[in-house]
Amino acid sequence: MSPKLCKAGQQLRLQVDDSYPDRDRTSDGWIGDTRHQARPSDHNPDAEGIVRAIDVDRDLSGKAKPDLMPDLADQLRLCAKRGEKRISYIIFDGRIASSKKAWAWRPYTGSNKHNHHCHISFTKKGDADGSFFNIPMIGGTA
Ligand SMILES: [Zn+2]
Repeated sequence: MSPKLCKAGQQLRLQVDDSYPDRDRTSDGWIGDTRHQARPSDHNPDAEGIVRAIDVDRDLSGKAKPDLMPDLADQLRLCAKRGEKRISYIIFDGRIASSKKAWAWRPYTGSNKHNHHCHISFTKKGDADGSFFNIPMIGGTA
């Protein structure tokens, strides 16, 4: 079975692309490379072939400045905190947010600090649910 990105991941990436058409995609990703495949990662397809993570390059403007990803990462976090159950966790700039600690940012101690991209992992609720993410910086109104 060929791997597929979960519907929530497809939708979130689409909203980012729609709002930032000129963004740099160098550090974008979804399916794990051989390095990811050597360890557990949401970038690796599960038994059903579903990948539950995306990486979005930090450079949303495509010109490095303004540096908008810190704000978008925070809006993703707040969206999850408000009850968006499709987001599992977010890693960006040496910090991670998840339902653990009620979606407060806490230090991320993994080897990759995620300075160049924002990592978003999705829950199984996002496998088939590609509904709109109500996030102000990517088209929402919240
Ligand atoms: Zn990632």
